[in-house]
Amino acid sequence: MIIFGTKSKVVQGHHVQGAECPDCGNRQFSSFGLLKYFHIFWIPFIPTSREAGMQCAHCKKMLVGKELPKPLKRDIKKAIFNGKNTAPMFAGLILFSALVVMIGISGEQRESNTDSYVESPEIGDLYVVNFYKISESANSEYKYGVMRVRQTFEDGVEMDIGGYSYNRSSGSDRAIRKGEVSESGYFEGEPVYLTGDQLASFRESRAILSVSRD
Ligand SMILES: [Zn+2]
Repeated sequence: MIIFGTKSKVVQGHHVQGAECPDCGNRQFSSFGLLKYFHIFWIPFIPTSREAGMQCAHCKKMLVGKELPKPLKRDIKKAIFNGKNTAPMFAGLILFSALVVMIGISGEQRESNTDSYVESPEIGDLYVVNFYKISESANSEYKYGVMRVRQTFEDGVEMDIGGYSYNRSSGSDRAIRKGEVSESGYFEGEPVYLTGDQLASFRESRAILSVSRD
């Protein structure tokens, strides 16, 4: 469940003069700002409104927004709403943007690692592959699986083929992450030999989605 909505925050301001209290006629007021913001899980995302207000120092009558004389309203807003109290209202947005950028960077890192691992394979490298792109005789729905470099040679590699297939590539990722690929019987049957050129072309066609190395 995502909890979101708007909340407001009161920012205390300085003492102001230049208006008369409609209730008691007093001319001394304290000012404040009302900052409304949109939050997700109580983390402020973005300010939604900034309103000026003042309170009579004598009878405590409150005037908010349109009830204030225009020039006074402008002065109060200018004095109260600055970067210091407004900037934190963007905390969620900034966090969220940073997260998106970090995910992007780690994705790029994975891509470039994969390219270099395919170029110079090492024993034990784990390949997340789309079997259907390698061979059309493979299952077109459960097409993702794992291959492991068993042996490296001058011009190619010998690969163990995982006996399990998944309908999403994340299924292969999970099997690697959880160590299922190290369990006996995960890789079965005869290994296949692939040349360096074949590996490069499988990478090119995205039949090889990613390679991980310990
Ligand atoms: Zn008053």
